[in-house]
Amino acid sequence: MLRTANPRIWAAGDCIGGLQLAHLGSAEGARAVENALGVGVRPMDRTVVPSCIYTHPEIAMVGLGQEAAKAAGHEVKVGQARFLGNGKAVGENEPDGLVQLVSDASSGEILGATVMGVHAVEIIHEVGVAISGGLTVDELGDIIHAHPTVSELVMEAAEQAEGLAPYLS
Ligand SMILES: Cc1cc2nc3c(=O)[nH]c(=O)nc-3n(C[C@H](O)[C@H](O)[C@H](O)COP(=O)(O)OP(=O)(O)OC[C@H]3O[C@@H](n4cnc5c(N)ncnc54)[C@H](O)[C@@H]3O)c2cc1C
Repeated sequence: MLRTANPRIWAAGDCIGGLQLAHLGSAEGARAVENALGVGVRPMDRTVVPSCIYTHPEIAMVGLGQEAAKAAGHEVKVGQARFLGNGKAVGENEPDGLVQLVSDASSGEILGATVMGVHAVEIIHEVGVAISGGLTVDELGDIIHAHPTVSELVMEAAEQAEGLAPYLS
């Protein structure tokens, strides 16, 4: 609820610990204000917090990684797609990288992803929406993605998790 030990004080951002990210602090600030005012009171949901590293190539993560998913009790299935097989990435002379999609092996529920490659910090949000909406890898793999886009790699990683990998290099 973001309420402190003092019942008149709510807190948000770096001072409460955990992931220290600007967008998380903003979201916590909004939630703390609503909770303090008694408007739509609910706990802070940190299931989907994208975390981005602005290196070259970029790296972005959201949800649970393999180890965290196992620690949370999931039997994990991993789907992968490489930037080397992606027309947009190769056309931009950025063939290095990988999309790794983590899902629950029995339900297919998408749990998290790591993307390393060009535009990683943009395409990671598609996985955030998928996690938030409770999508399975089967459902994500069925969504038609425009070609050529690096976003196609998310669809292909989902397909690969399902045993399909039409463009995997
Ligand atoms: C070098 C660097 C790079 C970063 N890059 C990124 C990034 O790329 N993406 C990202 O998401 N996050 C990044 N972060 C983290 C991000 O900046 C923080 O998570 C975010 O600013 C936290 O917001 P906040 O409001 O909790 O705290 P702050 O932004 O630190 O704000 C706290 C404010 O309180 C003020 N203050 C402190 N004490 C008092 C006092 N006693 N009285 C009154 N005012 C006080 C401070 O002056 C400050 O203005 C980066 C941080 C650093 C240091």
